[in-house]
Amino acid sequence: MYEIKVFGGVNYQEIHRQGSVFMFNEKSVIDAGCLLTSLGEKCADIETIWLTHSHLDHIVDIAFVLDMYYVQRKVPLKIRGLKETLEALQKHFLNDDIWPDFSSITLMHGKGMSLEYEAIKVGECYRIDEETTIEPFATDHTVPSCGYIVSKENSAILIGTDTHSLEGIIASVSNKKAIRALVIECSFPSAFDGLAKVSKHLTPALLFQGLKSLEKKGLKLYINHIKPSYVEKITEEIQAMKGDWDVTILKDGDTIDY
Ligand SMILES: [Zn+2]
Ligand SMILES: [Zn+2]
Repeated sequence: MYEIKVFGGVNYQEIHRQGSVFMFNEKSVIDAGCLLTSLGEKCADIETIWLTHSHLDHIVDIAFVLDMYYVQRKVPLKIRGLKETLEALQKHFLNDDIWPDFSSITLMHGKGMSLEYEAIKVGECYRIDEETTIEPFATDHTVPSCGYIVSKENSAILIGTDTHSLEGIIASVSNKKAIRALVIECSFPSAFDGLAKVSKHLTPALLFQGLKSLEKKGLKLYINHIKPSYVEKITEEIQAMKGDWDVTILKDGDTIDY
């Protein structure tokens, strides 16, 4: 049994924690929506952030990890993502206008720059440590985006936030037999299907409709990325529509076994 720790997700009180972070070891996370509030000083140990896309709720804490832990950090913070995602960060975020360009600031207590960018490609497989690999797959969002399949030996989990179409997820599950669990977003109530379409997100109705074409049964389903104002409504709808699915709505601090 392997574990992924989840930060962010459903939290009524702290709006700052609605961004998402999936942590699969002390040095590697997927996305950086709420790293600081969740990990505190352990942020200084993060070496690689795998980004799903360039939206603020997935990148915002990169800025503060670099700034607050600049002195403690000993190795460059490696940001890995699609070429377009990295270009968006360089152009619009860590560009010296909004926040310093840390890729041109040398580490105080280590070799190299504070930040390094490294582009990844959908369908390629990357090694995280001796037993873990990570593979990006295409998702369907308003900007170039990807999800990730994290695998250890014969067990894998698919993390698919943010997306409108489930095509990439369905294709990945049929290609990769080891996938045991899916994390899929569900941002709006079903009545908001127009908004879900233009903002390229999902509702419970769209989610369970899309999942009908999945042939493999017995997968666990975890839901994240619920907009905080609709938590109750979306939870009710998921309960009503889930059918045979074993569904968990992810909350801040949850652990996913796979
Ligand atoms: Zn997004
Ligand atoms: Zn998002």
